[in-house]
Amino acid sequence: MILKNFQGQARKLVGLLRTAGIHDDSVLNVIERTPRHAFMPESLVHKAYENTALPIGNGQTISQPFIVAQMTSLLLQTERPLARVLEIGTGSGYQTAVLAQLVEHVYSVERISQLQYQAKRRLKQLDLHNVSMRHGDGWLGWQSKGPFDGIIVTAAPATIPKALLDQLHPEGGRLIIPVGTQSQDLRIIVREGDEYHETHNGEVRFVPLIQGDLA
Ligand code: SAH
Repeated sequence: MILKNFQGQARKLVGLLRTAGIHDDSVLNVIERTPRHAFMPESLVHKAYENTALPIGNGQTISQPFIVAQMTSLLLQTERPLARVLEIGTGSGYQTAVLAQLVEHVYSVERISQLQYQAKRRLKQLDLHNVSMRHGDGWLGWQSKGPFDGIIVTAAPATIPKALLDQLHPEGGRLIIPVGTQSQDLRIIVREGDEYHETHNGEVRFVPLIQGDLA
């Protein structure tokens, strides 16, 4: 998929994100150089650098750039090196691509195999090889690859899945997760041993995290 001068459009988007309150330059630089148009159907490419969520098929959406920037910035707000990061809900693979340029290794779980297949192909085309993908139920995390320095969930459960809390690194592992049904609130949970410190970061809107059966 070729979009002429995507850098110009991406630069504008980053300016908008900065005005909207995103200040982490490492995140903004990565968003500026990542071709978001490569993560969506051809018919929507002209909207790729607008600050909106867009449909990617199978009833799912590519997250709004502001949300990707915000969740990634919240993940990075730590002294702890992020060697292993788990993402639940690969979707288009766009958030995965952003993470892969900022942390050592990304483990990403998706329940719809068709979306996972497309995301895998796109990441390969962009030469991002520090990503492992799994077709599975993200409620269960990815136990054999944990504990994780960070976990990002890009679909909303009604309550926080226990497996994700268990798979956080006991010394400062961070979970960034939207929680709720109709209205959801973005939470940051930091683990210190057996204690989990929770802060809230305002209202958000995500597709539901579905439990059980794979598609
Ligand atoms: N970060 C993605 C967001 C995609 S939408 C992007 O920007 O493209 C959320 C994704 O979560 C969907 O692809 C959906 O299929 C997936 N999902 C929902 N429930 C899940 C579950 N239990 N396990 C894994 N993935 C799940």
